[in-house]
Amino acid sequence: VKISKSYKLASRDFHPDPTIIQLKGVEIGGDQLVVMGGPCAVESPEQIDEIARLVKASGAQVLRGGAFKPRTGPYSFQGVGVEGLVMMAEAGRKHGLLTITEVMTPEYVDVCAEYADILQVGTRNMQNFDLLRKLGQIQTPVLLKRGFSATYDEFLNAAEYILAGGNPNVMLCERGIRTFESYTRNTLDLAAIPVLQSLSHLPVISDPSHGTGRRELVEPMSKASVAAGANGLIVEMHTDPDNSMTGDGVQSLFPDQFARLMQDLEKLAPLC
Ligand code: PEP
Ligand code: MN
Repeated sequence: VKISKSYKLASRDFHPDPTIIQLKGVEIGGDQLVVMGGPCAVESPEQIDEIARLVKASGAQVLRGGAFKPRTGPYSFQGVGVEGLVMMAEAGRKHGLLTITEVMTPEYVDVCAEYADILQVGTRNMQNFDLLRKLGQIQTPVLLKRGFSATYDEFLNAAEYILAGGNPNVMLCERGIRTFESYTRNTLDLAAIPVLQSLSHLPVISDPSHGTGRRELVEPMSKASVAAGANGLIVEMHTDPDNSMTGDGVQSLFPDQFARLMQDLEKLAPLC
């Protein structure tokens, strides 16, 4: 692999020990697995409350859900916005879960950080440098998704923007890349997990939901990610996936599948 190593703070050469992000009693990046589960999008207070209850009952530690959705087309549902942040924060508080939500623009970083414990940068924004710079100015942990056509070097340089600004709490997320294969939505690059962990000290999280786009592949690719050394998983789950407000219902687990996956994962690695 040809690596320019133009990044510094993200590199193992600079920081030999793994970064462990401490977040309200949950340690991300150590020997224990963190699992983030929930819908693609926050839809209503009832929806996120019920999903939060199920996520907690399954033993996962973080509730995921987008209030701002980066949709490919402008006419698709764009998310419920700030109200969704409030709904998710309330569900997380009530059920004792940390929360993660996507932030798309620098102007919304502060409000998202006010309501969520972890901020997600989506694949389409991996090189939104103004957003990355703004995230460098706060201390809230950031889950940075790999651009769907980004090399490892470009990915680590994107992380470098956040680190260079002064925020050391960055997680890298492999969420699948674009290849010639069309059976799956993306190709989950499992090799990214050990490669990124050898090049960088940052925790690596795998997203088998967007990485495959197919519900039936989420369980095997979750297990494969853990076997490859992932520090955590981010998995879509929905109580009524066929009627979800984004197209991601087809990759969302049903609650019973999510619960079974959690039981199986506990046999592979201790949970946080
Ligand atoms: C998501 O997590 O719902 C999402 C939009 O992810 P990505 O940016 O990886 O497509
Ligand atoms: Mn999604």
